[in-house]
Amino acid sequence: MTENLIIIGAGPAGLSAAIYAARGNLAPLVLTGQSLGGQIVLTNELENFPGFPEGITGLELAQLMQKQAERFGARLEADSVTRVDLQTRPFRVETQNGATYTARALIIATGASPRRLNVPGENELTGRGVSYCATCDGFFFRNKEIAVVGGGDSAMQESLFLTRFASKVHLIHRRDQLRAQPILQDRARAEPKITFVWNSVVKEIRGAGKVEGLVLENMQTRARSEIPVQGVFIYVGYIPNTELFRGQLEIDEEGYLKVDARQRTNIPGVFAAGEVHDRVFRQAIVSAGYGAMAEIEAERYLASL
Ligand code: NAP
Repeated sequence: MTENLIIIGAGPAGLSAAIYAARGNLAPLVLTGQSLGGQIVLTNELENFPGFPEGITGLELAQLMQKQAERFGARLEADSVTRVDLQTRPFRVETQNGATYTARALIIATGASPRRLNVPGENELTGRGVSYCATCDGFFFRNKEIAVVGGGDSAMQESLFLTRFASKVHLIHRRDQLRAQPILQDRARAEPKITFVWNSVVKEIRGAGKVEGLVLENMQTRARSEIPVQGVFIYVGYIPNTELFRGQLEIDEEGYLKVDARQRTNIPGVFAAGEVHDRVFRQAIVSAGYGAMAEIEAERYLASL
């Protein structure tokens, strides 16, 4: 059976597209990948998603969106796409669980993944003190000294969250100015458990079997120092998940999918939404908006067939 619409990814963009498509009677199939919600489940609380004046956790928001999509007939499969063929019609989509689907239209909402530091020790100690998700792992660092790397919104927000557990948070940033929004900067600067380490980069993560310390280098003096920490949380930006589409869709020099103002990729019938193409805004609400736009265009495309 050929699907009308397959949505790849179930972050705010994919789930919002699913709600619209389901309400449009398309009975969309959503291939969610490993986890529902995408990056919003990596954050403890969203304070700026409209409609939730008291804030809402990423997981709760994702579950509400799922419920809303399923209420109108969306089908969610916890399966990851391993290959797509966009040269044939209908499009072919193969998954990790061994399924092959075909679809008349596709919405790509595969989002972005945390960027790694690519320093010695990082790979070996991931899950052993190196983490990219404070919400998931913060609990393990009760009364421990930890570090957070980065100077953006994520680094501030997650450092603040980690002060609930850690005895001390070293916030390591490569410049002496933060990129984060003023409100988050102010909160982080006012938090006594957070100490800023300016103009510094991590050169190595040390430890035998678990994180024991970081080797830092001062960007101005080149002096090296070592700080003892038991955990390090890395928030140095994100990389779009576009490998699956390389060679088939137009991708820019930084790896983002190229779309026009109506969410259309270079292949008619293939649309994209969210952080897989958005390098500018990267907000849950914006991704949800892109998901709605992509779906409206997909519906128009399907009607035109
Ligand atoms: P980001 O804004 O891209 O910031 C990444 C930070 O990591 C920057 O401070 C950057 O330094 C630093 N960095 C990058 N590569 C590095 C490296 N190799 N070594 C050391 N430091 C490195 O990423 P983000 O904070 O995750 O935010 C992503 C997007 O999500 C943003 O648009 C943000 O506004 C949004 N967001 C919003 C909220 C909210 O509204 N509450 C919360 C979280 C995220 P430089 O500053 O020197 O470039």
